[in-house]
Amino acid sequence: MARTTHQTAARSGDALRLESVSKVYGGAGSVTALDDVSLTLPAGTFTAVMGPSGSGKSTLLQCAAGLDRPTSGRVFVDGTEMAGGSEAKLTKFRRQRIGFVFQHFNLLPTLTVMQNVTLPLRLAGRKIDRDRCRSVLERVGLGERLDHRPSQLSGGQQQRVAIARALVTSPSVVFADEPTGALDTRSARDVLALLQEAVRVYDQAVVMVTHDPVAASYADSVLFLADGQLVGRLERPTAEAVAERMTHLGDEVARRHVTAGA
Ligand code: ADP
Ligand code: MG
Repeated sequence: MARTTHQTAARSGDALRLESVSKVYGGAGSVTALDDVSLTLPAGTFTAVMGPSGSGKSTLLQCAAGLDRPTSGRVFVDGTEMAGGSEAKLTKFRRQRIGFVFQHFNLLPTLTVMQNVTLPLRLAGRKIDRDRCRSVLERVGLGERLDHRPSQLSGGQQQRVAIARALVTSPSVVFADEPTGALDTRSARDVLALLQEAVRVYDQAVVMVTHDPVAASYADSVLFLADGQLVGRLERPTAEAVAERMTHLGDEVARRHVTAGA
């Protein structure tokens, strides 16, 4: 799909870079949830992250998104290192550059659709352009629901509000942790198409954790995690190729353990 030069110029280079990121939880009996992960994701790419339960997918997203701090290693967004300073500085950085979509939507139940979407701008102390917010909501097909509460919407509609909320600040990277996990097939397809659109039309980088090979096939590439390490990558994935690779991930982990122990 064609991109205007302007949009490409506006977001050139790497949207996200991780350098040797590790995360260890706990003291005694500690768990290494991420083990020396390095990766680079250019702007305008849609990346899926897959791996067995407990392989570190959520930890990877939390660390990359600045919701949690790595034990070691560095995270760069748009070439700028994620603030190593105070919590307030990190929060500010996150609000400016990062969007997040959760499995269970995480909308505020007492706020209307419009208020949920303007909230990130309010929190960031930015000017609220209601026309722009309305057009983002129209883009996700909710232009007629601005004054509804989340409880008056279906799961699929709530997730589309959450996507609008993640996009409204024009973040460099949008992270989504199992965004289709709580949705029926049709709503899931709508949500995946919207994430694709954010990449193709607005040149945002999207990183999505999923269990579903069909969902992963919407991405440009799939990263495979096992035991906190990146163990593989698939470009232009088909659902079949992803499913096949997932089946053999267990073997791969076992082989690495044998090699490491030998
Ligand atoms: P995934 O999302 O792939 O299922 P997670 O990133 O949630 O994996 O977890 C990776 C590992 O880190 C698991 O062994 C999990 O038990 C552990 N873990 C995750 N969060 C915490 C935490 N807050 N405290 C201690 N251990 C954690
Ligand atoms: Mg998880």
